[in-house]
Amino acid sequence: MVAIELAGELCHGDRKSGRPTGNRQINCVTLKFPRVPARVSEALVLRTYPLQEADLVVSFLTRDQGKLRGVAKRARRPKNAFGAGLERLSYVRMAYFQRETRELVSLDGCELIRSQFGLASDYWAGVALDYFAEVTEQMLPAAEPNEKFFRLLLAVLDYLRTAAGNGAWRAVAYFSLWAVRLSGWLPELHVCLSCGSLLDDPEADAPERAFFSRDRAGLICGHCRKTLGGSNRELSAGSRAIAAEMLRTPVAQLSGPAWNQATAADLRRFLVEQIESHVERRLITAPLLENP
Ligand SMILES: [Zn+2]
Repeated sequence: MVAIELAGELCHGDRKSGRPTGNRQINCVTLKFPRVPARVSEALVLRTYPLQEADLVVSFLTRDQGKLRGVAKRARRPKNAFGAGLERLSYVRMAYFQRETRELVSLDGCELIRSQFGLASDYWAGVALDYFAEVTEQMLPAAEPNEKFFRLLLAVLDYLRTAAGNGAWRAVAYFSLWAVRLSGWLPELHVCLSCGSLLDDPEADAPERAFFSRDRAGLICGHCRKTLGGSNRELSAGSRAIAAEMLRTPVAQLSGPAWNQATAADLRRFLVEQIESHVERRLITAPLLENP
C-alpha cells in the first residue's frame, strides 16, 4: 500500500528536488523498486490542517522523536494511504522520511493501532481530546523526544475509554497535572511561595487556605494574600490532596467516586493557568471545559 502511494508521487515529480520532472517515464521506472521509509514511529496525531488542494499538514507526537510536523500528500483524496489514521489523537504507526534541511517531514502512510471513535458519543470526552491535543501541541517543543509525555497521553486515553461515564474530568485533571510536572513547571503545592510557611502542616489543626492568581507562580497562604492584594482564587485543601495522590498513583487506580465538572474544578483552573502562563497564550479549549 505504501509502495503504491509512493509510486503515484514519483510519477508526479522528482523526489529529491521536489520539482516536476521533464521525463516522467524515467521516474516511473523507479517504481518497480518500492522504497522502504526511513522511519516508522508510534505516534499520536495532534491536529491536521489543509495544504493546497489534496494534502494535509499533520502535527503528531512520536514516542521516539518527539513532536513532528509533516505533509501527508493526497490525504484529502479518497483511497489515500492514511485512512482514518489522521483523526485527532489516533494512535498509529507513522511511516515518514525526515530530511535535515526541512522542517516538515514527508509522511508516507500510517497504520492505525487504535482510534478514538469509541468516544465519539461522549461530549465531554470529545472536549477532553481537543484539550489534550491542544495542550500537547502548545507545550512541547518540536523534535525533542519526550517518551514520558507520550505515555501520559496513552494512559489518559486508555482511562477515558475504560472509565464508566464522566471519566473526562478526572482524565483532564490528571493529564494537566502531569503535563505541567513533566515540563518542570509544577510549583510546590504545600508551601506558601511568598512567606515559605507550610500549607499542610501536620501539627496544625487544619490545613492553611491556599490561593493562586495568574500573575504569580505557585500558591500563597491566607496571610500573604491579605498583604499582597490583587485578585486570586482558592485552591482547596481537598484539591491539593487530590493533586498529591495523582502524583503518586496511576490514573486508573485513583480512589474516590466518579467525578463531575465541579469536582476539583479549582485544581483544573489552577493547572490551566500554569499552562497558559508558560506557553504565553490562552488555550482555545480551556473555556469549553468551564461551559455548563
Ligand atoms: Zn504566606
